[in-house]
Amino acid sequence: MSINTQPTASHFIDGQYVEDTAGAPIEVIYPATGEVIATVHAATPAIVDQALTAAKRAQREWAAMSGTERGRILRRAADIMRERNHDLSILETYDTGKPYQETSVVDATSGADALEYFGGMAATITGEHIQLGEDWVYTRREPLGVCVGIGAWNYPTQIACWKGAPALACGNAVIFKPSETTPLCALKVAEILVEAGLPAGLYNVVQGLGDVGASLVTDPRVDKVSLTGSVPTGRKVYAAAAEGMKHVTMELGGKSPMIVFEDADIENAVSGAILGNFYSSGQVCSNGTRVFVHTDIKEAFLARLSERLGDAVIGDPMDPDTSFGPMVSKRQMEIALDYIAKGEAEGARLVYGGKAIEGDGFYMQPTIFADVTDDMVIAREEIFGPVMAVLDFTDEADVMARANDTEFGLAAGVFTRDLTRAHRVAAGFEAGTCYINTYNDAPVEAPFGGVKASGVGRENSKAAIEHYSQVKSVYVRMGDVEAPF
Ligand code: NAD
Repeated sequence: MSINTQPTASHFIDGQYVEDTAGAPIEVIYPATGEVIATVHAATPAIVDQALTAAKRAQREWAAMSGTERGRILRRAADIMRERNHDLSILETYDTGKPYQETSVVDATSGADALEYFGGMAATITGEHIQLGEDWVYTRREPLGVCVGIGAWNYPTQIACWKGAPALACGNAVIFKPSETTPLCALKVAEILVEAGLPAGLYNVVQGLGDVGASLVTDPRVDKVSLTGSVPTGRKVYAAAAEGMKHVTMELGGKSPMIVFEDADIENAVSGAILGNFYSSGQVCSNGTRVFVHTDIKEAFLARLSERLGDAVIGDPMDPDTSFGPMVSKRQMEIALDYIAKGEAEGARLVYGGKAIEGDGFYMQPTIFADVTDDMVIAREEIFGPVMAVLDFTDEADVMARANDTEFGLAAGVFTRDLTRAHRVAAGFEAGTCYINTYNDAPVEAPFGGVKASGVGRENSKAAIEHYSQVKSVYVRMGDVEAPF
């Protein structure tokens, strides 16, 4: 890799890069070419122990600092991330294959937003005073201790910051395990935090597969686990955390509905469907992959959508004009192509795309199926690729029941010009994050997370503070203590 931002070792522990080649090698593959661009080593038990020891040691002193002091460091880190946005975006593109056109405006920038937001909030984290006649109770909002973050591969910088920033603002120490598919970006986040003044040991990064994640989750020194990943992994991590009575945040998968009513602005609905299905080559957890379109406008919608997909620039992700890059890995591409074969076998109508693109790298076409029915596999399972299922509807009550008929509940969207219908539909969605006449916005100011199998807890916003801190009540008596004997 010919960039000056490449991390210099596998792990970042206690304020510095650490290598241990005894760990199994993990090849980092550039999805646009299939080339190996780096090799990191999975954490050995000794590395995991080193990270936990450092985090445990550093956390108390950090918690004893004022929120203003902690916040200042996070805000300084946000500034550094913004200054280095170009290099960090290039690294994000190498790690994930997402086009620079996306990474330069979404990844380090949203990471910086989280550091800035929670940095600003750190000084406002307080308890409350509860008067009880002459006596009173005051509460202290205290950190949890050592928080483990486990990341998915689609937004490696953002996930590292969305978990790290609120945890650090609340006075916790963090150990982050990136996805084995995209191990590089979180190391730069750790490096920048230390450069901004974060004391050693408070933000550590260790590499590895699921077994390294599992060893962190079960360690008694860990107080909280925040996972971004699939539902099956979520079930395992949640169960393991429950064994140790640990706090959890689960940001898991989805199969979110997007409903386009007959009165919708078709151009905006098409834009929403593109954002909610093809951004990051469809590898976004909150994607609205079940697009219910009113039969009155269905053909017009499909025609315009196909026309707009023809404008996608598929190619070298480093070219700023490229708007659709490769899949993150060969495996992820094969999973998506397999679903396409299932969709065709089940009788869905292939309207656009459907094929792998010949050549180097893991490229496939953005794909649209129409005439999809609720029972088809492509309408029920999360594909995590650029495959949109368009389903017909005519009646609002009926489409709402169908939209909610899923184990998932991450996000949902509605396109309509009818104001009361928009809010009625949003209220009726069984989903944690809903959109009216837009799709997939995720500003740090708003809570983000799922219901049902899509998750537990919320990231971002003031709500995240609840998930990285706990309340202690202190009862104060002013008079004598009455006892029965
Ligand atoms: P994954 O579940 O395969 O892996 C996620 C992470 O968990 C990885 O770091 C992996 O190493 C680790 N892991 C695996 N088994 C583990 C275990 N037993 N104990 C501890 N850690 C373990 O997910 P993925 O393929 O990396 O990412 C795609 C999934 O993530 C999709 O389902 C997607 O919807 C979801 N996702 C959710 C959000 C969200 O915010 N809700 C965001 C992005 C991705």
